Amino acid sequence: MATAANADGKKFNMFEGKKHAELTLEHWITRWEKQEIGFHLDEVHEMLKKYLDVMLNGRKQIRIFFPLCGKAFDMKWLADLGHTIVGVEISEIAVKQFFTEQNLSYTQEPVPGIADAEVFKSSDGRISLYKCNVFDFSSLIAGQFDGIWDRGSLQPLNGSDRQRYRELIITLMAKGCRYLLDTLVCTKSDYTGLPPKIPDSEIRDLFSHTCNIQLLESSDTLSGKQKLWGLESFTEEVHLITLKTDSS
Ligand code: SAH
Repeated sequence: MATAANADGKKFNMFEGKKHAELTLEHWITRWEKQEIGFHLDEVHEMLKKYLDVMLNGRKQIRIFFPLCGKAFDMKWLADLGHTIVGVEISEIAVKQFFTEQNLSYTQEPVPGIADAEVFKSSDGRISLYKCNVFDFSSLIAGQFDGIWDRGSLQPLNGSDRQRYRELIITLMAKGCRYLLDTLVCTKSDYTGLPPKIPDSEIRDLFSHTCNIQLLESSDTLSGKQKLWGLESFTEEVHLITLKTDSS
C-alpha cells in the first residue's frame, strides 16, 4: 500500500518505478535536462576523503579515473591536490555544468574514433571529461590509470552490462592501480523498482577472478530521505580492488 511517505519519496528516488531495462542512456540524458540529480553531492564524498590515502598508497600526482562521473565535486578536489583526472559521462549538460560551476575554462573537441563523443579539457590540462557512453571508452583513448574512484556506476548498469563494465575497468587498471568502489546495499519490503542494491557477494562474483578485493567499510547510513523512499536499511560499502597480477 502506498503511504504518504512513499508518495513523497517518489519525488526524490531516481530509481522508483524503474526497471533495469528502462535505465537507458536517454533516461540519464533526460534526468540531467530536468536537473533531477538527487545523487549529486555539493561536497567531497566522505568515503573518498577517508580512503584517499589507501588509493594513493604513498604515490603523488597520480592519474585517476572517474567512470560515470556526473559533475562530481571530487574531481576538482583531486585535481587541486595535483592529480590528473579523466572522467566519462553521457550527459553533455553534466560535463558543462561541472566546468562552469567549478569556474574552470575548458576546450571542447571531438574524440577520433567515437562517433558523437567529445572531450572537454580544463585549460590547465588536469581534468579531461569524455562525453560518451562508457562502453565506447577504452585504454586506447586515454591510457590506463593509477587509481579509480567509482561511486554509483554499477547501480545503473544491468546484469550483463556489469560484466562488460568489469572487463572494461580491468583493462583500464595500470600496474599498481588501486580501485575504490563505493556502493549501496539496501532493503525495502515492498520493493518493485530499482533502488541501488549491490551486495558484497556480487562484487566478489564480478571481480574475484582477476582481482583482490578488500571490504574497507560497511556503514549504515539510513537517513530521513531514504526512509521516505520506503527503505528499511541503507548501507554504504567501500571496497578496495587491486589486480592479482600486482601481488604475484
Ligand atoms: N559518479 C557520479 C554520478 C553517479 S550517477 C557522482 O558520484 O555524483 C550515474 C551517472 O552516470 C549519471 O550522471 C549518468 O548520466 C551517467 N551515465 C549513466 N549511464 C552511462 C553510460 N553508459 N556511460 C556514461 N555515463 C553514464
